[in-house]
Amino acid sequence: MDSRALRAAMVRKLQAQGVSHPAVLAAMGAVERHRFVDTALVNQAYEDTSLPIGLGQTISKPNVVARMIELLCEGRTEKLGRVLEIGTGCGYQAAVLSQVSREIYSMERLRGLHEKARENVRGLRLANLHLLFGDGMLGFAQGAPYAAIIAAAGGEAIPQAWIDQLAVGGRLVAPAVTGVGQQHLVVIDKTATGVKKTVLEPVLFVPLKSGVA
Ligand code: SAH
Repeated sequence: MDSRALRAAMVRKLQAQGVSHPAVLAAMGAVERHRFVDTALVNQAYEDTSLPIGLGQTISKPNVVARMIELLCEGRTEKLGRVLEIGTGCGYQAAVLSQVSREIYSMERLRGLHEKARENVRGLRLANLHLLFGDGMLGFAQGAPYAAIIAAAGGEAIPQAWIDQLAVGGRLVAPAVTGVGQQHLVVIDKTATGVKKTVLEPVLFVPLKSGVA
């Protein structure tokens, strides 16, 4: 399959949908999404759809991945510093993040997926990508403070540990249930004087769960 042409078409579609950050578009064009899905789904890898990755979890649509990473990169032309991702899944979004950040730590609570992600990124030579097995609800204090934190699973509230581990000047993007009982994309900006929370569009992510399995 000519995956380069399929990715170029996906990137054009992302642009038409409003994604404009050059580094984000370049990263979406560089990472081979078809390497992260099961063989049976390879021909759907570049469609704007979420796909099952096993153990009841899904890889987000390209549009959602690009949108969230663009929010992290907003107003910046240089690479992000250290980034924490909660919910490695198949490792696709982590691989995209590795292109726009200096260091990326990605946590997964399901051992089966953590191992699958390891296999998927093997051979891609992403030296700045660190895959971790553990409960991401607690964040990963060893790598803190983070320039950016991104979650691919949504809970009732944003765990305080994430906010604590965010650097001053850093930004967190995560799905969370808001007042109206529906999941929305939430942006938290940490400044020297406090945190500012912005609620964006409704989204549908798999649940954030505590503990490992
Ligand atoms: N970014 C992923 C999307 C995976 S779906 C990708 O590109 O494939 C979200 C993932 O979050 C699931 O694999 C789920 O197991 C994981 N998850 C849910 N709660 C978690 C937690 N507390 N810590 C770490 N991972 C968690």
